[in-house]
Amino acid sequence: MKIELLPSTIENGRAVNRQHLSCFVLDDKIAIDAGCLPLGASRVQIQNIRDVVLTHAHIDHIAGLPLFIDDLFSELKSPVKVHSAEEVNAVLQKHIFNWEVYPDFSELENENGPVLEYVDFEPGASFAIGDFSIRGIPVNHKVPSYGFVVEKEKKTLALTGDTAEMNGFWSEVNGCETLEALLVECAFPNELSELAEVSHHLTPNRLAAELDRFEVDCPVLAINLKPAYRDDTERQIKDLGIENLSVMEIGTPYRF
Ligand SMILES: [Zn+2]
Repeated sequence: MKIELLPSTIENGRAVNRQHLSCFVLDDKIAIDAGCLPLGASRVQIQNIRDVVLTHAHIDHIAGLPLFIDDLFSELKSPVKVHSAEEVNAVLQKHIFNWEVYPDFSELENENGPVLEYVDFEPGASFAIGDFSIRGIPVNHKVPSYGFVVEKEKKTLALTGDTAEMNGFWSEVNGCETLEALLVECAFPNELSELAEVSHHLTPNRLAAELDRFEVDCPVLAINLKPAYRDDTERQIKDLGIENLSVMEIGTPYRF
């Protein structure tokens, strides 16, 4: 399977290696989070993606979703399905697609039918999208938030989304014999550990302690680095000297 972290941030007219918004694309057809979905996706990806899986409802993870559906409104032949936990979809309905912030697309149809469908997943239970099997695992963020275990053809990826120190997630991934890679957040540099604590994020030192609990020998890619501190955070991650650990490159497809 292929996973790509879409570029989100433009400086001087060019996409740069910093990340304000979060969106991963699986096999060019499933989005995990939608922060920069309509901004960073290729034409092929935009034409293919009709399933969006959300970790949580923070704006850097959902910002692109209203515009993505808006762009596709007249051409959709089937609705964009938003797969998330019930409480996360409820936030979208109440605070985003409410006619005040943006149209309630779940009430609208084009000539082919509905354009937005909320699909609640059951935490811990697998659900299928095409040939992928996906499981949402609760993580430890300030709001309800889920990491994912993603399987296809006996290969598995795990992704934490935004989180601080976790419990259940590690027992889930440690038992996974087919795990090919772990994508794990590392938002803040070590000197902002207090901010990381109150906002439920990790720093390189906190990540290192978490990885002591990770028992699978596979690549670990750090994600969700706050752009304002990216250089420091990246350097501190490298300085940990942990084998297999690197920062996920933006706009580069990884194949497993
Ligand atoms: Zn968040």
